[in-house]
Amino acid sequence: MLPKVAIGRHCCAQSTNLENYRPLVGDALIDEINGLAAELNGVRICHINSTAEGGGVAELLARHIPLLQALGLSTDWRLIHGDPAFFQITKGFHNALQGGAFPLTQAVQETYLDHNRESAGLLEADYDVYIVHDPQPAAIRHFVEAPKAVWIWRCHIDSSEPNPEVWAFLRPFIEDYDVVVFTMPDFLPPDLQVDRVAFIAPVIDPLSTKNMELPLEICRRVLADSGLDLHRPILLQVSRFDPWKDPLGVIRVYRLVKERMPDVQLALIGAMARDDPEGWVLLEMINEEAVNDPDLYVFTNLTGVGNMEVNAFQRGADLVIQKSLKEGFGLVVSEAFWKGKAVVAGKAGGIPMQFPPDFRNFLVESVEECAEQVFNLITQPRVRAAFGRAGRERVRQEFLLPRLVRDELALIREALGDGAR
Ligand code: UDP
Repeated sequence: MLPKVAIGRHCCAQSTNLENYRPLVGDALIDEINGLAAELNGVRICHINSTAEGGGVAELLARHIPLLQALGLSTDWRLIHGDPAFFQITKGFHNALQGGAFPLTQAVQETYLDHNRESAGLLEADYDVYIVHDPQPAAIRHFVEAPKAVWIWRCHIDSSEPNPEVWAFLRPFIEDYDVVVFTMPDFLPPDLQVDRVAFIAPVIDPLSTKNMELPLEICRRVLADSGLDLHRPILLQVSRFDPWKDPLGVIRVYRLVKERMPDVQLALIGAMARDDPEGWVLLEMINEEAVNDPDLYVFTNLTGVGNMEVNAFQRGADLVIQKSLKEGFGLVVSEAFWKGKAVVAGKAGGIPMQFPPDFRNFLVESVEECAEQVFNLITQPRVRAAFGRAGRERVRQEFLLPRLVRDELALIREALGDGAR
């Protein structure tokens, strides 16, 4: 049997209850979801991805699945089997879907397919709906005999200009699916041939420990406890240590700002994920930058920075940066907006759609532009506060968990209903 991610009973029973979201998102959405859940009563859903922690997909599933279960829908979360060699390849595929180079040797193809075949052999075939996330397990559908099920491939990556060779290899496996879901129309690869394509943007959970309300005083104490000086400006980026998130570029931004504002401090928080071997290399490079710089702080989940600490840092920092060069969505942007923070971010992938329209000038395309806008916001607290308020309202309207639950259940109903199987 494929490993099942254990979801604590506490998640399902008390804290995760759709009714708790009513005051945040309004009656109409909650009532619509309850109606959809009633219609889908008895349907068995299986989400499959490659990791239970680290990165946005795991973050999302950890909140999304308990909510489906709380609605009475029978939903499991399973992980594809993988060893370091497999995850090296799938990280390469991830980068290649974003347009990066990757040597697609025969051995690479065989390792990828062997792992998918092996995982397929361990997967029960009695679900009604399989939702498979990203390229790591994408070929599993090819190897599973479940002719009556609906198969959905959910791509979280900006795959608008994929590396042609890797895309040519993956495309037939993706075209096996009944439905393919992208975050936004821009991400659709030009030559994909599937019966049905849908667009659903990710969301954050306002009630998770990552995003729940925390008193500012406690947050500031967490920052002070971590060594930061609360009397001086604090910049923050929270991201996997990944070249596309450009942590080294963020350090250059901070150094440019520091030339004009010597007091400024930067905190980089980076989760190390089991399916992301590149992270370790970058962590070493970042540590080299930090070792002689007392105002540059580096934290990871390995040093005890969990969801609560991320929450406290996002609330306690003066300004959040997300200098992505390529980005699927960038949950961290919505997380920061939800906390009323201003964000200076790369004009990449799904980030611009999260920005309140009046503040899109804080979407940047270079280190220099980023440093300029960081400086502007740090020196203009009123603009910063107005931006943060507008960001929070945009997230409330568009990017909170119930919206995703509604969109996904509506998609499942449609796919089951019209015989997409
Ligand atoms: N995250 C975290 N700790 C870290 C770095 C990231 O908890 O040290 C979380 C972050 O808060 C967000 C998710 O991981 O919820 C990253 O999602 P995003 O969509 O921003 O990026 P991805 O990693 O999926 O590319």
